[in-house]
Amino acid sequence: MNRALSSNLGYPRIGGGREWKKALEAFWAGKLQETELVSRMEEIRLNHLRTQQASGIDLIPVNDFTFYDHMLDTAAMFGLVPGRFGYEGGEVPLSAYFAMARGSEGAPACEMTKWFNTNYHYIVPELNGAEPQLTVNKPLLAYREAKLRLGIEGKPVLIGPYTFLKLSKGYKTEHFDKLLERFVPLYARILSELEQEGAQWVQIDEPILATSLTEADMERVAFVYKKLHEAAPRLKLMLQTYFDAVDLYEQIVTLPVQGIGLDFAHGLDKNSEHLLQYGFPADKRLGVGLIDGRGIWRSDLDARLRLLHTLSPIVPYERMMIQPSCSLLHVPVTAAHETKLERTLRNALAFANEKLEELVLLTRAVNEGPAAIAAELEQSRQAVQELNASPSRNNERVQSETSRIALQPSERSRPFAERRAVQQSKWNLPFLPTTTIGSFPQTLEVRQARKHWRSGEWSQEQYEAFIREQIRTWIALQEELDLDVLVHGEFERTDMVEFFGEKLDGFAFTSNGWVQSYGSRCVKPPVIYGDVEFTKPMTVDETVYAQSLTAKPVKGMLTGPITILNWSFVRDDIPRETVAYQIALALRREVEALERAGVEMIQMDEPALREGLPLKREDWQKYLEWSVLAFRLATSTVKDTTQIHTHMCYCEFHDIIDSIRALDADVISIETSRSHGELMHSFEEHTYDHGIGLGVYDIHSPRVPSVDEMVRMIDRALAVLDPELFWINPDCGLKTRGVDETIAALRNMVAAAKQYREQS
Ligand code: GLN
Ligand code: ZN
Repeated sequence: MNRALSSNLGYPRIGGGREWKKALEAFWAGKLQETELVSRMEEIRLNHLRTQQASGIDLIPVNDFTFYDHMLDTAAMFGLVPGRFGYEGGEVPLSAYFAMARGSEGAPACEMTKWFNTNYHYIVPELNGAEPQLTVNKPLLAYREAKLRLGIEGKPVLIGPYTFLKLSKGYKTEHFDKLLERFVPLYARILSELEQEGAQWVQIDEPILATSLTEADMERVAFVYKKLHEAAPRLKLMLQTYFDAVDLYEQIVTLPVQGIGLDFAHGLDKNSEHLLQYGFPADKRLGVGLIDGRGIWRSDLDARLRLLHTLSPIVPYERMMIQPSCSLLHVPVTAAHETKLERTLRNALAFANEKLEELVLLTRAVNEGPAAIAAELEQSRQAVQELNASPSRNNERVQSETSRIALQPSERSRPFAERRAVQQSKWNLPFLPTTTIGSFPQTLEVRQARKHWRSGEWSQEQYEAFIREQIRTWIALQEELDLDVLVHGEFERTDMVEFFGEKLDGFAFTSNGWVQSYGSRCVKPPVIYGDVEFTKPMTVDETVYAQSLTAKPVKGMLTGPITILNWSFVRDDIPRETVAYQIALALRREVEALERAGVEMIQMDEPALREGLPLKREDWQKYLEWSVLAFRLATSTVKDTTQIHTHMCYCEFHDIIDSIRALDADVISIETSRSHGELMHSFEEHTYDHGIGLGVYDIHSPRVPSVDEMVRMIDRALAVLDPELFWINPDCGLKTRGVDETIAALRNMVAAAKQYREQS
């Protein structure tokens, strides 16, 4: 029977109670045997399949499950284990698999990096001349398991060869074609074995097709898919793209596959335009990714049905697959347990399980007519409308202020060159001033104090007294170390976004909204559901207290608007840009409150600025423009003498250096120690003419660097940067470090600065 099918692209691994994470961590801690881990994982995997089966989804993905990361799985499947892990061929043992992810004695872990523009991180495969082989047909095993254990005709999911190789490292670009030729037969074998086994649909993920590709890339992709089709002509391949629209649409739809999956959440305009303009081949299914796989909100189902209707003259309903825009691994498992949230908000949430319901509903509407789901449609409509109509989304004050952005000051009253002179005479800092990035060690004691306070065991007064005691200790320590610009230490904060979210209007916090960030690490992003508004000073008390203890300047410490935005789940009824401005205006109130209270050095961290960059280069400018504007809205109303600092945790700097300069922060500190060379290189090509501190030691390691080592780092930096603008600081915040190593490292850092001052 020909009808529209509902399809899922991937299900979260972590489990509703994070049982996946718990099992892994118990195993790593030696509390679980390998066989127990394997059987728990199997149980979790089967449960996830059962949930999807019960939801009524037609095509249930298999092989999307993993013990750590799906890129790592693919590398392991091909036996791509770097030499340092002592692997000797055959199926990769769990010990080597985890060693690649986490490192082992004497063998550093493989690199980890962001999965496209998401907050998920994958393990980067290292090729380095290794001879790939098919050590196990993992998709086949997953297919068999679902069929034999649960009678599910699963849809195996695998990362396509083009994306896999493009995301790998350890080869020269000129060898790319050779490599591709080596991998294609392995993929061909996987597919032909699946075909023999009786598999119907197979989903091949090629998100790389949604980035900017060249015609030459496209020729290679055509070669790959021709070969794969020849290897398994009866298998139905769904070539799945996501995270943006595809540029080379016309070529992509002619590839010899039976389905093309497009993202109609993040690439809506362009993908629909292409479809209407160029049509869609009559022999293929269209995977309509119309439920946002990265957002947590219920969909406007009417709008989705209208979209399907618009597309239907080009692709008849019976050739559609109704699916999420990408794997649901980017959203929490279920909203069913969010009973602590206000009802209106809770009703408007859709996590993975609720999204499956939406997919099934939309598919029914298409197959049986919208009347078949009239009641559910009405319920969903009401939930969305109620939240939209709620006071939290209709804050007149915030909206009118935000709408007057163009009239808001977003420039300091004088340019940096002039501010520099007045700031120098005000602050009177030594040559090469020393400072830190903000946080000091969050010891067990600090974490326990917070627990006591949260559980009500400690009163507010008790907790505040404890925080003050920490501040006192660390101000004294910083004075003893003879740092020039001090910080209060951030002891009152668990997390640099949550802390602010809890104090601003428009934010909510879920009980169980966890998503995987990397490996077993999960994060629970705040939810920005309403208009964001400043309600009360957030950091003034602690900062003013710290300042009262010392004659040296104490920097106020804030998180910037773009980082708050990029590390939250953001409402989807207004543009992200608008939300960024709302946050910026709220932060401006905090900046002004600090300044009024006499705190006249203020750092606003933007470690996540780069993370929000769109996938396609052509879209960067727009994002960077509004991001820079948001930062400036938040920081530009201060006096000339007030010194604005910012901090970023990455060194790929060169391609956004103009925007970073445009932030117009008086001082920026950036991470460098891990890829010093790269950053130095960017300063050889671009000038940076504001204050700048390059991390002179790596805070990610407990090792205490020597004075000499740091002197050498400073030497190298000063070869390309103006010494008069240079600051000396560690790479990043010190909250994850131990107390003793922190003190020892800072002592050496200050000694290095002094040695340098004496030399020059
Ligand atoms: N001020 C923050 C800290 O020191 C900065 C953290 C970050 O850059 N991620 O912890
Ligand atoms: Zn940092």
